[in-house]
Amino acid sequence: MSKNPPNYISTTNACKLCTPLGAAIAFKGIEGAVPYLHGSQGCATYMRRYIISHFNEPIDIASSSLSEKHAVYGGGANLKLGLINVTKKYRPQLIGIATTCLTETIGDDVKMFLNQYEQEVKGEKPTMVEVGTPSYNGTHMEGFHNAVASVVDALAGKKDGGAEGTPVNILPGFVSPADIRYLKEITEDFSLNPTILPDISDTMDGQAAKTYEKIQPGGTPISAIATMGNALASVEFGHTMSEKSGGAILAEKFAVENIRISQPVGIRASDRFFDHLVKLSGLPIPEKHRAERGRLVDSYVDGHKYIYGKKAIVYGEEDMVVGLTAFLAEIGVIPILCASGGKSRKFAEKIAEATGDLLPEQPQVHEGMDFYDISELAESLEPDLLVGHSKGYPLAQKLSIPLIRVGFPIHDRMGGQRILHLGYRGAQQLFDLIVNACIAKKQSDSPIGYSYM
Ligand code: SF4
Repeated sequence: MSKNPPNYISTTNACKLCTPLGAAIAFKGIEGAVPYLHGSQGCATYMRRYIISHFNEPIDIASSSLSEKHAVYGGGANLKLGLINVTKKYRPQLIGIATTCLTETIGDDVKMFLNQYEQEVKGEKPTMVEVGTPSYNGTHMEGFHNAVASVVDALAGKKDGGAEGTPVNILPGFVSPADIRYLKEITEDFSLNPTILPDISDTMDGQAAKTYEKIQPGGTPISAIATMGNALASVEFGHTMSEKSGGAILAEKFAVENIRISQPVGIRASDRFFDHLVKLSGLPIPEKHRAERGRLVDSYVDGHKYIYGKKAIVYGEEDMVVGLTAFLAEIGVIPILCASGGKSRKFAEKIAEATGDLLPEQPQVHEGMDFYDISELAESLEPDLLVGHSKGYPLAQKLSIPLIRVGFPIHDRMGGQRILHLGYRGAQQLFDLIVNACIAKKQSDSPIGYSYM
């Protein structure tokens, strides 16, 4: 065996997902859209399996079904044939095309193929939006944000129309369908007229239907995207996406103010979000939301003794980890390690900004991590809690500590799509989950058991 260390770093069980998977979810948040992978069947099958196990909803991801010979001769012909088939079968309003590792590696020029398709194929065609998503060069979050930016770039305009009320754009990033429903409720309570892009609240958490719908109802209407340039402002959650985000494109093209804030997880970040809504609407915070905040503060006081000083490892996509870390710091839990597979180079800075005044000592923050690295660090850090998605379960089991399931993917519990993360209501649910997980752990470790806590 060689005594030299390897000149590469291998990834073992990555703490990120494939880039076009994120794009497919973003496209699922647009009304009448079908996500389409320019790549092999295997990539589409992997993504469908992942997405279905979290959302428990059917998801069709079309593919150009490339094989070995296309790696040599290019995939243009298959891409066009696939578009014809999808158009016939689904009658979509929009086809969202994302590339895969294979088509990026062979250098297929999707823009050129789509121009050829436009010339060659007669008759009515759905709107096409394409996004380059090489998975070796990013995470599912880059795929998600880049798909949103591509949609905005291609479709947003300043057309007249839209419902009554002050129009605002909300670009929430990859949050749960329950979060999106709640964001709609909040903004409408301020008498604003929100265009939320993407809106997966119905398409990925729909009602039982008597017959199978090829395309699930719901999603951001294309007509609403066409008027995003009229909005008073865009509110965009997250700091780790590229500078050319959907909100930035709207600002550049239509001079719509872009308010980029952290995901509103916990009281402080939610207060900032509500402050912006107060300014945009000119209205005070509705009593319903004030009351929710008040109950949340009360519960922080009630539950503090069970969680104060507990140590947590937080992992997942960067913006959600930033939000969760700030939330944990505000409830008295000490974040000791923040890990993500993303590599924005802004992760540590954003965590420090969100928690600097709350924590006497900053947690270890690592980008580009896998679960092998997280597990190695966890041995010496001795956490009391893991906070992240289901892929942390083997580590939680090994350390015999609770896993607080948040984000995506949740493969081993029901209701991943209904987890609330945002706002006062989301903080309340997360807080109760964490406190109860700590109480349950104490009970199960106790030789005598507890009934009154
Ligand atoms: S080959 Fe690339 S695009 Fe396909 S599933 Fe794997 S990581 Fe994703």
